[in-house]
Amino acid sequence: MPDGRAAALATLAHDIESCRACPLGSSRTRSVPGEGSANAELLFVGEAPGASEDAVGRPFVGAAGKLLDLLLALTGRAREDVYVLNVVKCRPPENRDPAPEEIAACAPFLQRQLALLSPVMIAPLGRHALRAFAPDAKISTAHGNPLEGGVGLPLGATLFPLYHPAAALHNGALRPTLERDMGALVRELPAARVRWATARGVAGEARLKQQEPTAERAQLRLFESEAE
Ligand code: SF4
Repeated sequence: MPDGRAAALATLAHDIESCRACPLGSSRTRSVPGEGSANAELLFVGEAPGASEDAVGRPFVGAAGKLLDLLLALTGRAREDVYVLNVVKCRPPENRDPAPEEIAACAPFLQRQLALLSPVMIAPLGRHALRAFAPDAKISTAHGNPLEGGVGLPLGATLFPLYHPAAALHNGALRPTLERDMGALVRELPAARVRWATARGVAGEARLKQQEPTAERAQLRLFESEAE
């Protein structure tokens, strides 16, 4: 199935590249469908591409992306081990917030990606991405914990909001919080796997067996020793 999933994600990326369903399709340089492991159990979701992403067609390649990579390294993971995408696939001019109608036009792509990837855990990065899954939640209170009651989630997935890495670049005081929250996300993963597999039955159990949760066991020990 991962091969079939990768092929379906590639087809979806082609559909995004040719999409002109909203005005952002005319102003973008490149669309940014998202990238990562087709078998990822962790999905990180940003709001929209910025200038660096628009130039190369890849998500989180600027300064915020570098911080995301450092945070992933704290969990023993690389970018290729997870999947990273945005709610909106084309850059809004001048980095303005995407308009509600642009988010709505792009929503079918996000839904197709969620259905194909069927991740165990979804981490919206920042308040705008969080709004796509939990319109009434506030990132200041929801960050760093699993959030119940998300909308549009794939079966069994756990929503786990994090601050956007760019927020920690603007406000250095948020960086330790983001690191702590990433540790909390890893600690939540085993329980999230159980919820996911329970919701999905035999197929879910089989997929979990393919995934080796060794990296975060080692990293959990690191987080725990740092907390002592
Ligand atoms: S933002 Fe989404 S809906 Fe709008 S043109 Fe790009 S891919 Fe299409």
